Amino acid sequence: MAPENKTGDLIKKRTQAAQKTYSFNNDYNPRLLADYWFQNPQEGLTLFAVFYTQACRWAQCLGCNLPSRMSEHHIGYHNIIKQVDFIFNSVLSGEQKNQLKKIIISNNGSILDEQTFSTTALIYFIAQMNIHCPNISVLSMETRPEYVDINELEVLARAIREGSTPTDVELAVGFEAFDDKIRNDFYKKGLDLKVFEKMAGMMSAYHFKLKVYFMLKPVPGISEQDAVLDVVNGINYLDDLARTYKLDINMHLNPTYAAYGTPLEAAFKKGEYAPPTLESVRETVLQAEGKSISIFVGLNDEGLATPGGSFIRRGDGELIKKLDKFNMTQDYGLLQ
Ligand code: SF4
Repeated sequence: MAPENKTGDLIKKRTQAAQKTYSFNNDYNPRLLADYWFQNPQEGLTLFAVFYTQACRWAQCLGCNLPSRMSEHHIGYHNIIKQVDFIFNSVLSGEQKNQLKKIIISNNGSILDEQTFSTTALIYFIAQMNIHCPNISVLSMETRPEYVDINELEVLARAIREGSTPTDVELAVGFEAFDDKIRNDFYKKGLDLKVFEKMAGMMSAYHFKLKVYFMLKPVPGISEQDAVLDVVNGINYLDDLARTYKLDINMHLNPTYAAYGTPLEAAFKKGEYAPPTLESVRETVLQAEGKSISIFVGLNDEGLATPGGSFIRRGDGELIKKLDKFNMTQDYGLLQ
């Protein structure tokens, strides 16, 4: 059996074992990005590009239906390269190419997993970015930590250095919950602290930045207060890690939504789970004041929430504006 078929079988098996009921998006045009949007964080104009590839090999995280936007089959580098061309020929205007400060690339899985995202396509992407975007200051890549290896970091660092302006590399890793039991037993993240810290050590040698995704209230059965406390423990852990490895760390805090086709949706429908309130988000963020990390609050459910299962409720408009502004300024005074 070809390795790509084996990977497809593994993904299907793990998806079923994790009681996910979504199907994959196998009929999509493989020459187009799965999705993209623009953001305006502190660093300046940012493009978030989601490549359409084979789905995440891990596949098991409880509340995640991101793989449903991907293919269960292998997508080769010829097609991924066409998606790169789509970014630089169709998505970005000439003005945006000049203005762009940051690009985040994702495949709803791991960009550094060469079995689902071709290394040839990754290097081609960096070449095109170096050619077209002279003012980029950060390239961010989403990945699980076990796919990060030192040879890859060395090649990435060299290719990025060839751009017109100094550009930081950022690796963005899903951590989701600090408590080991919540993270690995309930949420099925499969993230070991030793593997995470090994990655942090490797990144430190190259002065790469680290973005860490946390979820507020990622599983049913925990109170709003315990959910806040878990993220606060994560803030303190990352604060220590930033000091130990002299790393620039950003916590990307996502309030959890009930994603369709997942056990979290089932719990939500049975009344056993409610997404966190934005008030709890505010309370959590305030605990990071004075720490050596920055925070970005994710306020986009990417259209993946089941009806009524979003963390945004009627009357949240003012707080959303404040959190949006906080993302751009890191001004804690806005949330007091
Ligand atoms: S959260 Fe990330 S690692 Fe987990 S199943 Fe979803 S895409 Fe894969």
